[in-house]
Amino acid sequence: SPFERLKINESLQTALSGIGFERPTDIQERVIPGIINGQDMIGQSQTGSGKTFAFLLPLMHRIDITKDEVQAVITAPTRELAQQIYNEFLKISEHMPEDKQIRAKSIVGGTDRKRMAEKLKTVPQLVIGTPGRIKDLVNAQELVVFTANMLVVDEADQMLDMGFIEDVDLIASRMANELQMMVFSATVPEKLQPFLKKYMQNPKHVHV
Ligand code: AMP
Repeated sequence: SPFERLKINESLQTALSGIGFERPTDIQERVIPGIINGQDMIGQSQTGSGKTFAFLLPLMHRIDITKDEVQAVITAPTRELAQQIYNEFLKISEHMPEDKQIRAKSIVGGTDRKRMAEKLKTVPQLVIGTPGRIKDLVNAQELVVFTANMLVVDEADQMLDMGFIEDVDLIASRMANELQMMVFSATVPEKLQPFLKKYMQNPKHVHV
């Protein structure tokens, strides 16, 4: 499959055929191998470019399903966007063999806190959500993220505009020291630089 070139594992390749994806999009082609290699990444592309799978696929590839701990965190500025990412995850997950299933949880604001804490009794391997609620759960020690070394910041320019970068910063500061960060954004404003410099080492910058 054309996804094989990107070094995506076989069960993911099969799942991709299952959902009818024939070939990677431009952004996927250009960021997936680097993310699989552990590189920090700044991806500049619009919605509709296939950017969600550009970070979901390599994260899913790298998550160790034998480990019962949070390994990756994906943050998005709105509930709708977080839900959309989670739905894309489910779409591909449905086509994965049972013994290769990754446990993911969506963690967004506006839902009952107690129910959320209950839901977290089974530790997810992948967390997808909005920064405010994730931060609250991390602060309350209901969600443990120091085991996670992969962080995606989707729509980083919107995060900045909405004042969420501080929350993302707090989450990042509680994650593993050897943190790989992937930032996706339509634009990369100067005001984002201090945050990027704090967490990224020689990021690869891909603009499609
Ligand atoms: P996004 O830019 O992430 O919002 O994705 C836009 C749409 O393209 C979504 O509906 C995806 O399911 C779809 N998509 C993503 N990657 C591929 C691909 N390689 N082949 C076909 N469709 C794709």
